[in-house]
Amino acid sequence: VPVLDATHDPAITTWVPSGRGHGDFPIQNLPLCVFSTGDAQRHGGVRIGDELLDLAALTDAGLLDGAAAVAAAVAGAGPDLNALFALGAPARQALRQAVHRLLSAGAVEQPLVAPLLHPVAGCALHLPARIGDYTDFYAGRNHAEHVGALFRPDNPLPPNYDWVPIGYHGRASTVRPSGAPVPRPSGQRAQPDGPPVFAPSEQLDYELELGIWVGASPTPGRPVPIGRAGEQIAGYCLLNDWSARDLQRWEAQPLGPFLAKNFATTVSPYVVTPEALAPYRIALRRPAGRPGPLPYLHAELDQREGGLDIGLEVSLSTAAMRDGGRPPAVLARSSTTELYWTPAQLVAHHSSGGCELQPGDLLGSGTVSTAGDDGLGCLLEATRGGRVAVTLPGGQTRTYLADGDEVVLRARAARPGVAPVGFGECRGRVVVG
Ligand code: CA
Repeated sequence: VPVLDATHDPAITTWVPSGRGHGDFPIQNLPLCVFSTGDAQRHGGVRIGDELLDLAALTDAGLLDGAAAVAAAVAGAGPDLNALFALGAPARQALRQAVHRLLSAGAVEQPLVAPLLHPVAGCALHLPARIGDYTDFYAGRNHAEHVGALFRPDNPLPPNYDWVPIGYHGRASTVRPSGAPVPRPSGQRAQPDGPPVFAPSEQLDYELELGIWVGASPTPGRPVPIGRAGEQIAGYCLLNDWSARDLQRWEAQPLGPFLAKNFATTVSPYVVTPEALAPYRIALRRPAGRPGPLPYLHAELDQREGGLDIGLEVSLSTAAMRDGGRPPAVLARSSTTELYWTPAQLVAHHSSGGCELQPGDLLGSGTVSTAGDDGLGCLLEATRGGRVAVTLPGGQTRTYLADGDEVVLRARAARPGVAPVGFGECRGRVVVG
């Protein structure tokens, strides 16, 4: 479990000018990524302010030693962070400590490190890992209630909800980094009379989720116990689980999501580490009267501080809004405090029956919505199943997404007296399929 140390001290700042007072990427964050410049190969970096620290060049400069040197060399070798994730938490933590020291104001290495920074505006950011498997959970209880209420108003939550972290196996090959276009899928949808048609989806939706990057198992070959499951989390990102509701409604009985959700999944490019988020750990509180988790999902420390307090946001811009110079409209503000299961519980449950999780696997939390109307994490909820249109600034309305619509997810953890930790953007624009 990450502990608070000097890397979280809000009084320590950086010699990187754009990093000082940065709202998302101050020196207390230091997320990992995979980037490229020009024709160079993809390899690992660390974001500070508006710059990326090149881990390959840092390795070549010989400024690190021990576990930090090994971690930087592995991440710098590229083209993904799987090998770094496979080294486990101690290597990642050593790298964080070393990079924090090198970037701190007053570091004697500043003249040697400064040339190893690239302005992020001139870099291409890529998927941070080669994703072996992608699993999407359903851990947002408000989302489950809201969606369930559309079909079962008197009994919206399924009977297993309090007991099982519900999930399904998704599709890894179509997970794309922020900025990649999202082609509208075609598929089967039901017709009131007669056979279904195969046509472009007319009910394309987004889903606001927290993504979890899987690292090395602390108990290889065996299910990871809940008390150690947090050690297997390499970091976090934003995840948009694009969903074609008309296709989903027709195909999902009885086996759940298939083509309605596997045409595109967008993730933000930065791996925000468990260490960076250590100050934002919280207890997840269940509503009164709900049963506690079964013993294999119950650990005292996880109950006390296994949740995260991260603010989430969805915004939308249409082609007409952009043409008219209008800024994106914020559609929802939510928080990971709304999740019903902790990230460690998702990992422990996933592996509990013998399923092997591997470094670079990706988990989605499920849509994170608030109980009230201000933070509904998808249009299915915001429009009550497409019955009540959302009105945008300028007067356009939406029940579901139109071609040209661009959805941007953002996340930031922030609290007075603690340095903020931002995630960057998870951006995707719907294009003709
Ligand atoms: Ca989902």
